[in-house]
Amino acid sequence: MKTRVCCLHSAKDIRVETRDVAPPQAGEVRVALGAGGVCGSDLHYYQHGGFGVVRVREPIILGHEAAGFVAEIGAGVTGLKVGDMVALNPSTNCGKCEYCVQGLEMHCTDMIFNGSAMRMPHVQGFYRDQMTVDARQCVPVTGDVAVSEAACSEPLAVCMHAVSLAGDLKGKRVLVTGAGPIGVLCVALAKEAGAAEIVVTDLQKVPLDVASEMGATKVVNVIDDADTMQAYARGKGYFDVAFECTGVASALVSALGALRPRGVIVQVGMAGDTAVPLGILVAKEITHRGTFRFHSEFQDAVDAISTRRIDVRPMITAQMPVENAEEAFELAGDRTRAVKVHLVFNT
Ligand code: ZN
Repeated sequence: MKTRVCCLHSAKDIRVETRDVAPPQAGEVRVALGAGGVCGSDLHYYQHGGFGVVRVREPIILGHEAAGFVAEIGAGVTGLKVGDMVALNPSTNCGKCEYCVQGLEMHCTDMIFNGSAMRMPHVQGFYRDQMTVDARQCVPVTGDVAVSEAACSEPLAVCMHAVSLAGDLKGKRVLVTGAGPIGVLCVALAKEAGAAEIVVTDLQKVPLDVASEMGATKVVNVIDDADTMQAYARGKGYFDVAFECTGVASALVSALGALRPRGVIVQVGMAGDTAVPLGILVAKEITHRGTFRFHSEFQDAVDAISTRRIDVRPMITAQMPVENAEEAFELAGDRTRAVKVHLVFNT
């Protein structure tokens, strides 16, 4: 059978094309996709043809945040039936390298990640109506939720891993810098974990409104209101924990200033070689901790979305048919109007 795909040829050259779909072999299923989120990395591929040393060197079907319905089952697959809603886990670790063996699967030295141009040939992604995948990538969505909600499992898994590295948040004062999809999901998780206060900074109103809906106790537009962050920096700071979700130097400086001595900053955002002000980090004995991808958290994220223990609906600000992919990417890149944009398939 044939499927439509959304394929990037080079920066700003995204095309809806037709490809063959292989019938599912043993251990595989064919999934009819319903929704696929546009992530920051998809945007970098679209806007700049890559990020850092990772460049689009051949046509690549983007997309690694997706969900759909089981359409056909190959031999030997158990636990799935036709019609089941499933979230697709884009990461397949090798299971054999030294990191996989240690239970540090996100550091697998041979990771295969759908919709990524890191490897050559590129690993093709989820932006398509139909796709045959390894059945182990399909995690059933058990609750009565929309397929677009299920498609938020991957970014939620990223944030669950980040929060797991922050220590206990109960009763803590939490700062989140950047109210994009990752920032607002960190807000929802901090609220669930019992944080006493969750303050969110951004430059735009639309993302800050979403942050409020997802559990922020206060939002600060740092363009209109520089005084508030300066107040938090008085003395030796105010917050116990910060989730830095921008990768931008000014946000990092502001987070370090607003953290109390011995505070923890979890670095979720990345944007190349951002400078780190070591003076303040050292003088306040701050722990600056990176976080990367996820592993077991993918199942946890699907469960949290299935039960709406984490309600992701406020962050899905637009859903557009795949034939409008170019418009969807332009919208996703406009933070004055969008948080999470989804492409809709099988329309
Ligand atoms: Zn491995």
